[in-house]
Order: sequence, then C-alpha cells, then structure tokens
Amino acid sequence: MSNHILIVEDEKDLATTLEYNLKREGYQTQIAMTGEEGLRYAFLDPGPDMVILDLMLPGVSGIEVCRRLRETDKTRNLPVLILTARGEEIDKVVGFEVGADDYVVKPFKVRELMLRIRAILRRAKPEHRTQEKRTVFGILTVDFEGHRVWVDGAEVALTAMEFKMLSTFLAHKGHVQSRENLLHDVWGMNAFVVQTRTVDAHVKRLREKLGDAGAYIETIRGVGYRFRSEPDGSGA
Ligand code: CA
Repeated sequence: MSNHILIVEDEKDLATTLEYNLKREGYQTQIAMTGEEGLRYAFLDPGPDMVILDLMLPGVSGIEVCRRLRETDKTRNLPVLILTARGEEIDKVVGFEVGADDYVVKPFKVRELMLRIRAILRRAKPEHRTQEKRTVFGILTVDFEGHRVWVDGAEVALTAMEFKMLSTFLAHKGHVQSRENLLHDVWGMNAFVVQTRTVDAHVKRLREKLGDAGAYIETIRGVGYRFRSEPDGSGA
C-alpha cells in the first residue's frame, strides 16, 4: 500500500517538484501552503504517513507546527522531515529539539531526500501501520485477517483482488484515489498491462457486489474514486 506524504511548503515551485518526484516513487501526496493548513491535513482521519515540513512558513512557523504535532496524541509518532535553509533556527533542528525525525538543508538533491524519506518510513512502519483486524463502517463490516466482508450482516464473497481494492479504499477514507493510484496499490508496480479503464470495470463490479454499501465508493469525475469518510456521506 502506498504511503501518503503531506508536504508543508509555501514555495510553490519546490512543493510541486517534491510532489512530482514523490508521485514518481509511488507515494501519494498532498500539499499545504501554510502551517495552519498543514496541521489541518495532519489531523484528518486517516492522516498522512509522514510530513515534509518547511520551517519558514507564513503564519504558524514550521517549528510551531512540529511542536503541535508532537503535543497531539494522534500525531505524536507521525514522522516529520524538516526542510530548512542554512541559519534558519538550524541549531534547534540539528539538536532535534523540535522533535523532527530528520532534516535536510536547502538546497538539497532530490535523490538524497528520497533516500531519507524511504529510511524514515521504513523505521516508522511497525508501530505506525498496525492495521485493525476488523472494521465496521455503516452497514459494512470487514475482517482483514479472515478476508471476509458483510453488508447488513450478510456475507459477500469477494475475489482477492476485490478485497484488496476495498481495503485500499478503506485505508484512504475521505481521500480521492486516482485510477493510477488504484492501479499501483491494487495491482502493484508491475501491472502495466492493466488499463485505467479496467479499474473502472472492477470498481463497478465491487460496487455491485457490495449492494447498498456500494454507495460508499463515490466517483470523482475526471479524477477517480473516493471512499466516504462517514457512512452517511457527511464528512466527504
Ligand atoms: Ca518557506
């Protein structure tokens, strides 16, 4: 399953470059241009798996963002990689006083940053990615260990691939999943033979099988799909 990385950076060009490179590595990304926006995204459910955080931001500073992430239970263990210009409160960052997991000094090589990100995520995985054994969402119940699904108490038989697709949707509740992301997460990197059209066909089939719970998977025109963040659609 691909990791979701939140980029908090007010320099648009840099944010876009980071996003491009992260996507190319198979990560999902989200950009926040201010500290406030970054905190809002970080506190969402499900939140990001990691934050790339610029220090010099308009309004709430990167240091303050990091401090608040560390103060909050939900984000206490969320990995944070800081981007800093030389001299920008660098002593605090180097001393990891702000609670960051790592930092890079601008200007940096993208390749170097990607290696650091991979290392941080690898370290974070065991405690950060413990999947629940069973999820109840509205009329839908999913048993991840037994690979079983119920809608309104009646068991629904899904293929392994359909189950994987449903799990992917559930892991990204409230987030739009592009067809490309689904291809990557459900079929894996090597499935270049699968067309994005095929994704639509499989989603259609999964929805049919889920009956009334099929409505939880919403089509976002021209982009892809989104699993509702609340069963009644209120949070989407
Ligand atoms: Ca900045």
